[in-house]
Amino acid sequence: MRLFAAALATETNTFSPLPTSLNSFKECVFVRPGEHPEDRAVFASEPLLVARRMAAAEGFTLIEGSCFGAEPAGTTRRSDYEFMRDEILGQLKQALPLDGVLLGLHGAMVADGYEDVEGDILERVRALVGPKCVIGVELDPHCHLTLKRVKLADVIVLYKEFPHTDTMERAKDVLDIVLNTLRGKVKPVMSLYVGS
Ligand SMILES: [Zn+2]
Repeated sequence: MRLFAAALATETNTFSPLPTSLNSFKECVFVRPGEHPEDRAVFASEPLLVARRMAAAEGFTLIEGSCFGAEPAGTTRRSDYEFMRDEILGQLKQALPLDGVLLGLHGAMVADGYEDVEGDILERVRALVGPKCVIGVELDPHCHLTLKRVKLADVIVLYKEFPHTDTMERAKDVLDIVLNTLRGKVKPVMSLYVGS
């Protein structure tokens, strides 16, 4: 079984005049494959870290992608977002064929031209991995959950605590559900109530 994990996260305040740039990520979290620390998660990389720790015991191969994270600020520059997104998509393409994908995202990231960044990432990931691959995502409860994400992902788990003290536990939930789906033990079904 082959799983891929990566992270790309920031919380965007679209009213903030300060754009989020590649430098904002470089000043916070900019970790390439092989550089991720052993002892701690770095900004939404919990799915990757949990999968790394569980891979041997659960009998799957983990292919690690990049992890990018920036402190909350304004809209992310389009080319900077596309650069990080395409780096992760390139790694994912190299890792094919895949049984599962684990993504650490925030859920309220906006880039120029991309109001639903997480939906855009999921759309491109799904196009590469195909319909059978199980995609699991961990999000912050401060996210803007969209129907697009619910349709494209198989599993979405939000942190349940604020302050966010349960990010590792929820990442474990994502991994468990993805693995149990792949083993045919569960068949996750998602729905979203969109209020007017
Ligand atoms: Zn939050």
